[in-house]
Amino acid sequence: MPYDIEKIRSYFPILNQQVYSKPFVYLDSAASTQKPIQVLDAEKRLHNEYYGNIHRAAHYMADKATADFEGVRDQIKEFINANSREEIIFTKGTTESVNLVAFSFGEKFINEGDEIIVSEMEHHSNIVPWQLLAERKKAVIKVLPFNDNGDLQIEKLDELITPNTKLLAVAHISNVLGTVNPITEIISKAHQKNVAVFIDGAQGFQHTAVDVQKLDADFYAFSAHKAYGPNGVGILYGKKNWLNQMPPYQGGGEMISEVSFSGTSFNDLPYKFEAGTPNITSVIAFGAALSLLKETGIRNIASWENNILQIATSLLREIKGIKIYGEAVQKSGVISFNYKQIHPYDLGTLLDKMGIAVRTGHHCADPVMQHYNIQGTVRISFSMYTSEMDITRFINSLERTIRMF
Ligand code: PLP
Repeated sequence: MPYDIEKIRSYFPILNQQVYSKPFVYLDSAASTQKPIQVLDAEKRLHNEYYGNIHRAAHYMADKATADFEGVRDQIKEFINANSREEIIFTKGTTESVNLVAFSFGEKFINEGDEIIVSEMEHHSNIVPWQLLAERKKAVIKVLPFNDNGDLQIEKLDELITPNTKLLAVAHISNVLGTVNPITEIISKAHQKNVAVFIDGAQGFQHTAVDVQKLDADFYAFSAHKAYGPNGVGILYGKKNWLNQMPPYQGGGEMISEVSFSGTSFNDLPYKFEAGTPNITSVIAFGAALSLLKETGIRNIASWENNILQIATSLLREIKGIKIYGEAVQKSGVISFNYKQIHPYDLGTLLDKMGIAVRTGHHCADPVMQHYNIQGTVRISFSMYTSEMDITRFINSLERTIRMF
């Protein structure tokens, strides 16, 4: 069946608007996707029909909310093919998922002199928590570099991994370069030397099929708000064997089994890592986003986004003076670029006045900027609802902007 872009766009009312009297073109989905009516309706339905605090429910509303909340856990388990629902932990976002593992895995398994490898193309969320851990435990951070094309130099892993290496943290897809990293190969190389692997899937989950068992990932994290769901919800997948050995990350309600002043015992997975009332509304609404992803088909979405990527890349390449950062062969729907010496913020601001929403700056990836010796880039990013018309309007507006300089 052909990809019905008009039908998909009809699910996202926000797209059908004018800003500054111009048609709205949203090219900032890597920062956060827009939300479909299915998600908005699910939130409304919950609050109109069956809201209650979940777990330990003694009444109808709480029971029903609990069933739906736990149902989303099952949906995620199925979506990423986890071995068990206990391996799916709800957090606030990818950032909290990284912090959870950095704290909890770190507490148990990282000691003085141990090494953690982080790639050069990571988002700050997948750098700073490991730095904090390294400082706390007197461990060492090592960097897996990328080449100017935007490909990780994974052959360097052979020398980077030593008997002291305990964990490797790498993005599935770079939020700046769009590179789809060869994580199967990376995980296999790391495992040959008994190194655990944390995959930052913030830009991966919604763009490509993820099978955590096939990947053999130890941890895989992503955010609902980048996958058509609400803000404030993240997912951490972790292998049960690791999660069972790791101490709790936060203390509070739900994560306990019994509390007394002589000692406290902890709940089973996944609740051991879910202290306090979770974001019930957003988790349940995320279920509607997952249904839409499933119904549309992640492979169909990936192929549509790739088509948009190819069109946008070739049109950008035709504009003299444009430099694209990130030209990996395996690339997802993100293009970072600059035009001559023009500051990206100036380009972004002018584009905005023409109705085009792009992102400018360092994209929370300072080391990538340092690699190219630049302050920042303009970034456009695509999702299931990006249309060819969006790209035409963007290119026309960019050319107009360039003529102004
Ligand atoms: N990792 C990557 C690759 C990202 O692109 C982002 C957000 O842009 C994050 C982590 C952090 O995600 P969140 O802010 O949802 O926690």
